[in-house]
Amino acid sequence: RFIALEGGEGVGKSTQVRALAAALRGRGHDVIETREPGGSEGAEAIRRLLLEGSADRWTPGAEALLFAAARADHVAKTIRPALEAGRWVVTDRFLDSSLAYQGGTGGISIGQLRQLHQVGSDGLLPDRTLLLTLPAEEAARRAEARDRGASDRIGGRDAGYHAKVAEGFASLAAGEPERFRLVDALGDAATVTGRLLAALEDL
Ligand code: C5P
Repeated sequence: RFIALEGGEGVGKSTQVRALAAALRGRGHDVIETREPGGSEGAEAIRRLLLEGSADRWTPGAEALLFAAARADHVAKTIRPALEAGRWVVTDRFLDSSLAYQGGTGGISIGQLRQLHQVGSDGLLPDRTLLLTLPAEEAARRAEARDRGASDRIGGRDAGYHAKVAEGFASLAAGEPERFRLVDALGDAATVTGRLLAALEDL
């Protein structure tokens, strides 16, 4: 099974990827944890290109193409081989992050991003996409606490930007109710992990 965790910064995705993978292993599944951008040697190299420089290092179109290229490598080298071997894959972000982040930046439209995904990754979609949701103020508070002192691009984004990304995720989820589940990210980590597991029960 292929599971993606999605959501804006500060919702606790990386903690929950680890916890969910551990919980699934506890139920006897063979699970790999991975992330985007990254998850394969080439995609991790692209991640460095994307996250290192200043926010305007890449044009919006070039940035979208780099994310799509990283995903194509990640799918071919890491995700498909694991799924073919019967393993579960839990990824920290996937296509929907590109649609929510790059889809609104004026570089490449959501329809074009989906086409790139078709070409680069054969259109692979998760069996379930778990969207972690938080009230905007709480997400901002957590992201701020995590990134305090960081001089990277994450710290430089304003509340309006984060709200727009959250809206993007919500509308993607509304369009594909079978694949998506919204999961409340408020509360202690173990409670949230329990909610994620419950949202996979049918799988
Ligand atoms: O998952 P994490 O929050 O660590 O993501 C790293 C950074 O990459 C974040 O700033 C996120 O907003 C950004 N990102 C993006 N487009 C994607 C995936 C991640 O802008 N498709």
